Amino acid sequence: MAFVTIKDEYKRYQMGETIIVANDGINLEIEKGEFAIIVGPSGAGKSTVLNILGGMDTADEGQVLVDDTDIARFNSKELTGYRRNDVGFVFQFYNLVPNLTTKENVELASQISPRALDAEQVLRDVGLGERLNNFPAQLSGGEQQRVAIARALAKQPKLLLCDEPTGALDYNTGKQVLKLLQDTCRNTGTTVIVITHNSALAPMADRVIEINNAKVRKMTKNPNPISVD
Ligand code: ADP
Ligand code: ADP
Repeated sequence: MAFVTIKDEYKRYQMGETIIVANDGINLEIEKGEFAIIVGPSGAGKSTVLNILGGMDTADEGQVLVDDTDIARFNSKELTGYRRNDVGFVFQFYNLVPNLTTKENVELASQISPRALDAEQVLRDVGLGERLNNFPAQLSGGEQQRVAIARALAKQPKLLLCDEPTGALDYNTGKQVLKLLQDTCRNTGTTVIVITHNSALAPMADRVIEINNAKVRKMTKNPNPISVD
């Protein structure tokens, strides 16, 4: 059994009189330790899948198996525990707390997860050992995204879920962030899932899942992913 298996998953949103089918029978699998990319145009249903995988939203139907547990059957208390302990999130716009330093932002992880790693150590690992006492506004976009990645990794999550992590960065900075995600995956064995509308990222992934119009259109395993350098 794959580490992540989504089976016949449906999600609809009601907008006034209209029903929007965001996920129309999603099926996908991701192995433990893979660097997976979910790619597709805006509105395809990617964030819906990621939010359901992260316990931030719930499926209407279907199974969402993570490490052999069907999180689609979790009650709200179980979902809260899952979000806190098992998943790390990285967003397009970093979501750092502006009045906390780099180190304090990463220390937030230890307030929610009992097995959180030492903030300074994780920040050194992502190349920010010199930036511990800076505030987010004093950092570049790429550095802020590294802090956000460090904060997510400090929890030692089963899944690192990233929503357009390079979407707000220029090409070269985006490349560095992708390299960090790829290296994290290789060095720590964390399963990393990135959603993006940018199909140029696909050659770097171990697995590429293409979503269009609420369905998975193609899933390919990449035997020779490009190492970002
Ligand atoms: P993507 O991440 O690929 O851009 P989304 O999963 O965000 O796509 O959205 C899929 C569809 O569901 C879109 O039509 C979007 O407008 C709709 N949608 C997403 N979230 C909501 C919501 N909370 N309420 C209503 N419609 C939503
Ligand atoms: P190249 O040496 O041609 O720049 P790379 O190894 O840097 O190739 O990247 C592999 C592929 O990923 C290329 O097709 C490149 O366009 C794409 N790519 C790398 N980083 C980014 C990024 N941040 N945003 C968009 N595309 C990227």
